[in-house]
Amino acid sequence: MSNDPIKVIDEKCVGCTLCEKSCPFGAITMKERLAEIDLTTCTLCGACVEACKFEAIEMRQKEAPAKDLSDYKDVWVFAEQSDGHIESVTYELLGEGRKLADELGMDLCAVLIGSEIKDKAAELTSRGADKVYLIDQPELVYFQDEPYAAVLIDLIKTHKPNIVLCGATTIGRSLVSRVAVSVDAGLTADCTGLAIDPETKNLLQTRPAFGGNIMATIVSPNNRPQMATVRHKVMKEADVDSSRQGEVLIKEIAAEILKSRTTRREFVPETENTVNIAEANIIVSGGRGLQSPENFEVLREFAEVIGAGIGASRAAVDADWIPYSHQVGQTGKTVCPRIYIACGISGQIQHLAGMSSADIIVAINRDPEAPIFNIATYGIVGNALEIVPMLTKEFRKVLGK
Ligand SMILES: Cc1cc2nc3c(=O)[nH]c(=O)nc-3n(C[C@H](O)[C@H](O)[C@H](O)COP(=O)(O)OP(=O)(O)OC[C@H]3O[C@@H](n4cnc5c(N)ncnc54)[C@H](O)[C@@H]3O)c2cc1C
Repeated sequence: MSNDPIKVIDEKCVGCTLCEKSCPFGAITMKERLAEIDLTTCTLCGACVEACKFEAIEMRQKEAPAKDLSDYKDVWVFAEQSDGHIESVTYELLGEGRKLADELGMDLCAVLIGSEIKDKAAELTSRGADKVYLIDQPELVYFQDEPYAAVLIDLIKTHKPNIVLCGATTIGRSLVSRVAVSVDAGLTADCTGLAIDPETKNLLQTRPAFGGNIMATIVSPNNRPQMATVRHKVMKEADVDSSRQGEVLIKEIAAEILKSRTTRREFVPETENTVNIAEANIIVSGGRGLQSPENFEVLREFAEVIGAGIGASRAAVDADWIPYSHQVGQTGKTVCPRIYIACGISGQIQHLAGMSSADIIVAINRDPEAPIFNIATYGIVGNALEIVPMLTKEFRKVLGK
């Protein structure tokens, strides 16, 4: 019997091509009216098994080793900080983590790693953490993958959390992927929704898949902890309750665990002196329609007058007109400003994935059929390079700048 994880039963296959059409990875071809699966391309997603009306494709289920998961308790949040400043994504995770912990009847815990950050633990308890694991050592003064991951791995192995949440930030993504591999846990990246399955108590982790065209809900039923990174600005921040008390558990980590093969030589802050778009209330965003990097100056001027941050589509970033840190969308930042002004952006689904929850969307595009107008609150059809300077002039007058 073949050991292949998936196979076509030739006697049942009628060559109808339904499986070929259903495969998102192009791994199935027809050979002499029989389906053939290329195992080097197949991801075992199971779409073909579902599509086949003749039960002609068989997928062997991986036998999950029975593990005792009952020891795994509590919901953990990695409290991202830089220079002692707790990043706001942490408060969003605490807000969501609180709901999950209450539903499971478990504690919500924050893990705070850094140097000279003891006084920050109270900020985490006031936002809902029942416990804070505090690791305050000089070697951890700034984020480095190896020592930070080693600390988190050590804590997870000792205390066995049920769920570990982390911001889908540059630091969070880099950190938890390394941790998940080391603790043999499932990790779902870039979640936009989390919930507890009322029957199994597993974490339901929802995220956009296939270019944002579907929302996939992922579970890790056989391993613990269940790990997820969560997009910034998708969830609501936990409210502050300064009367709330929590337990602070100070952990000492052995020096050999904190060794790193890399050292930080220098920190070069981005020179663009603009508002951070992840936090901005107003964002003026530019796309390929701006036609050149020089034309972003027109946006910068407008943004300065109205106190906005500058966003961009991936097309503008890929063309090197503006740094990646400004990219809005599926592979960029998720933003949730009061006002989002899209200039020369067509409104592809991957861009909308990062900005559609803005309260007011203004679109400026010279193509009246551009999809961005389908979600815009206000639309201006015309040349952005003429309209934006006019807006700058008017706002300057109105705001007295
Ligand atoms: C896996 C994946 C991930 C992706 N992630 C992202 C992401 O995170 N963010 C993102 O933005 N994209 C992302 N994309 C790319 C996305 O599909 C689009 O290609 C991109 O958003 C298009 O950028 P754009 O709207 O600037 O350019 P275009 O689609 O080329 O649109 C330019 C628009 O400008 C208009 N225009 C032209 N000249 C003017 C003018 N003078 N005045 C006014 N309007 C004008 C045109 O009518 C057009 O509508 C991703 C794609 C993939 C496959």
